[in-house]
Amino acid sequence: MPKTENEKGFVEIINGNYKPRGKFHIIEKNQPIFNKDTGKLAGVTNPRDMTYIHSYGGEAIFFESLSKGKLMATRCDNEKCGAKGSIFEPFRIYCPDCLRKTTVIDLTDIAKKTAKIHSFIITHRSGAFNTLPLPIKFINVEFEGVVTILMSVLAVGDPEIGKHIIPIFNTKNPTYTITDLRFVTEGTKESELPAGFTF
Ligand SMILES: [Zn+2]
Repeated sequence: MPKTENEKGFVEIINGNYKPRGKFHIIEKNQPIFNKDTGKLAGVTNPRDMTYIHSYGGEAIFFESLSKGKLMATRCDNEKCGAKGSIFEPFRIYCPDCLRKTTVIDLTDIAKKTAKIHSFIITHRSGAFNTLPLPIKFINVEFEGVVTILMSVLAVGDPEIGKHIIPIFNTKNPTYTITDLRFVTEGTKESELPAGFTF
């Protein structure tokens, strides 16, 4: 059952401190588990409803940028690093080679021009808490000049290795999670995008 506003947990940061408000742990009535063959008690269910506070830290700019139609990446600019100039997508706060903090860069234009499918898998059965429409077309995405591969979802079109794809962003009703970023095949019309998404 969807929660009312009084049953949700909210968090703000005020003067540098996390300020939770509302309910973060909700108790629900448990149920007995009876063995239908013997009529005997075998156990109980244990419903738990918990809201987890997940801090993004240095990755916050990545998720906030998705809501504005921007795909941010990072680059190692350390002169002493053997991997200097490497661009990372998914976004890495630290360079894995020199362990120094990376520089945040805007990858949106490069993604629009050069994103292509490296590999893909289509899954008809999801795990718990899935919010994506089934079947899910999971794609591994390559970008020109980027040393890593991004995992994402093809929202419109048929996946094919090497196919050029275009990023789309949930700018109208952002969730501030990775599902705000998806891809579509080239030639997809704005009217075909999932609700809330724009190019
Ligand atoms: Zn480095």
